[in-house]
Amino acid sequence: MTTETKTRIHRDDEVVVTAGRDKGMRGKVIRLINKRGTVLVSKVNMVKRHTRATASNSGGIIEKEAPIALSNVQFFCPNCKTGVRIGMKALDNGSKVRTCRKCGEVLDS
Ligand SMILES: [Zn+2]
Repeated sequence: MTTETKTRIHRDDEVVVTAGRDKGMRGKVIRLINKRGTVLVSKVNMVKRHTRATASNSGGIIEKEAPIALSNVQFFCPNCKTGVRIGMKALDNGSKVRTCRKCGEVLDS
C-alpha cells in the first residue's frame, strides 16, 4: 500500500492539539480526511453553524467540529501524559504495532 499516511494516526485515537486556536486541547479522532491531510477531533475547533428549522431539528445555532491539519495534532500517550511522536515496532509474530517514541509504550492493544 502506498496510501498509508505518514502520521499514523487512526480513528478513535486520542490526540492533543499542538498548534492553533485550540492548542493543548485533547480529543478523540472522529474522522480522518486523508485527501486533505486533515482530521476531525471531538470537541476541537468547534464552529457555529446556523441551521434552518426542520421536522427533526428546531433550528438555530449548532456547534460542529471543523477539520484541523494533521500536522497540528499529536498522538496522546497515556503514559507520558503528553503528545508524542509515533514509532513502529515489529512483533515476533510479524505484525507491526505503533509505539510511543518517548517511553516505548505499545500504543495498539
Ligand atoms: Zn509515552
